[in-house]
Parts: sequence; C-alpha cells; structure tokens
Amino acid sequence: MNKGKKLYEGKAKIVYETSDKNLVIQHFKDDATAFNNLKKAKVEGKGVINNRISEYIFTNLGQLGIKTHLVKRLNMREQLVKKAEIIPIEFIVRNISTGSLSKRLGIHEGTVLKKPLLEYCLKNDELGDPLVSKEHILAFEWLSEDDLNYINQISLRINDLLSGLLRAVGIKLVDFKIEYGKIWNEDKTKKEIVLADEISPDTCRLWDAHTEKKLDKDRFRKDLGNIIQGYQEVARRLKIMPEETNIKKVKFGKPTSVKFKKK
Ligand code: 5GP
Repeated sequence: MNKGKKLYEGKAKIVYETSDKNLVIQHFKDDATAFNNLKKAKVEGKGVINNRISEYIFTNLGQLGIKTHLVKRLNMREQLVKKAEIIPIEFIVRNISTGSLSKRLGIHEGTVLKKPLLEYCLKNDELGDPLVSKEHILAFEWLSEDDLNYINQISLRINDLLSGLLRAVGIKLVDFKIEYGKIWNEDKTKKEIVLADEISPDTCRLWDAHTEKKLDKDRFRKDLGNIIQGYQEVARRLKIMPEETNIKKVKFGKPTSVKFKKK
C-alpha cells in the first residue's frame, strides 16, 4: 500500500492518503501534548507502543463484534484504516472520578462511580473541547438521536469489554475517550458508524489495580516522570511489548523512585 500525501496532522498522529480512496494510513508520533497544547514534549517510543496497544485493543473489540476502522497494522508506527468522516464529538466514559470530572464538580478523586458515566465533548481545540449535552448534539445536528443512542450503547459495551480485558492483567480502567466515524457500508447503501482514532495510554486513564500507580498520560500531564515506562508496562502486561522497540531514554520527565512491579 503506497503512502500518498499528508491529509491531516494532529497532536499525536498524522493521516496520509493511499492509492485507495477508501483507506488512509494513520501514523503514530512520539509527540505528547496536554492542556490544550500548552504543554508539549517528545516521548521517544510512545508512537510505537501506542500503535501496538491500539491495534491490540481494536482487534480484540473487533473480534467481539464492535465495528472499527482498523484494517491492519502496517509497521511499527503505522496502521491502515478505513477513511471515515469523523463525528465531531469526543465520547468520555468514566468508572472512577478524577481529572476534569473531579475538578468541575468537586467529586472526591478516586470515587468509584455507581455506574459508568458517559460525557460528551465537542472536538474543537480552539474552544478547548467543551463539555456538551445530548440536547446540544441534537440541536446542532452533530448526530441524529438514533445514531447517538447507538453510540451510547456501543461506548458502554466497549467500557465493559475493555475493563475486563485490562482487569485480567491487573489494570483498572479509570476513564477513556473514544471517537467514532462514518463510512459507507459494503454495498454503498448507507453509512455505518465505526470506532475510529485510537485507544491507548494517551486516551485512557489506567491504574495498577493494587497500587493505583498511573500507567498513562497523567504521568506526562502531572510531571510524574517515567512516562514511557508506564506505557511499556501496559504493553508488557498485555503481552504485546514490541521486541524491536529501541527506546534508549526517556526525553521528558524527571526520574522518580516509581518502580513497576515485575510479574
Ligand atoms: P478528562 O476530561 O478528565 O481530562 O479526561 C477524561 C479521559 O478522556 C482521560 O482518560 C483522558 O485521557 C481522555 N481525554 C479527554 N480528552 C482528550 C483529548 O483531547 N485527548 C486525549 N488524548 N485524551 C483525552
């Protein structure tokens, strides 16, 4: 599959066209950003690990009946994916209160929610991805009511599946962000909704089930150091640590005394 011209460059990924108009290449960068791009750094090896973790999760979800954009992983940093029209909403699923939920509503950090909480944010960097309601989504026709109901249901199912998959390797799925896109179905009669973008430690909060040590992008956001080691630990526990990864040093973050327990 030949890589064509760059279609879009985001904070953590680049999308390239291919010779097939229905397929694009998603390239995972090492760039890390937080707080709406105010904090930036390169985390060497992050793109390689996120590519693998996201491939693994999307493949597992696909096998369990969730439709995704993933066609296949092409190499260490790239995936071939179906070209989708991205729905301009970020879907956030939360199991434990932390981050913006705790800040916004004063909910004690670490409070286990009685049932998963689904939130919607408008995908708009200039506005800082503001929280929106179901009514906003319908009023501005970002989605139809049927599509929104479908996505809500799929998002909660993804939460169940992913929580189980991670719990089995000693990781708590605290919260995560997912995105969806629309693609034409096979006989080109209607558009269907598929899971798009990525699911990785960049887009989830993942805590060690026993120590609650953070194994995700909060290590970068909160200057905890050992960022790549957190991501590697997730990959190692999922048994997908790419052997060919050559991560020489962590470029960002001060060393800390945090040590991740070996199995
Ligand atoms: P919060 O709203 O607490 O900042 O984030 C909730 C969850 O969604 C976290 O797992 C966080 O990583 C993820 N998330 C929310 N917005 C974004 C975003 O714009 N980019 C990324 N990578 N993750 C996000």
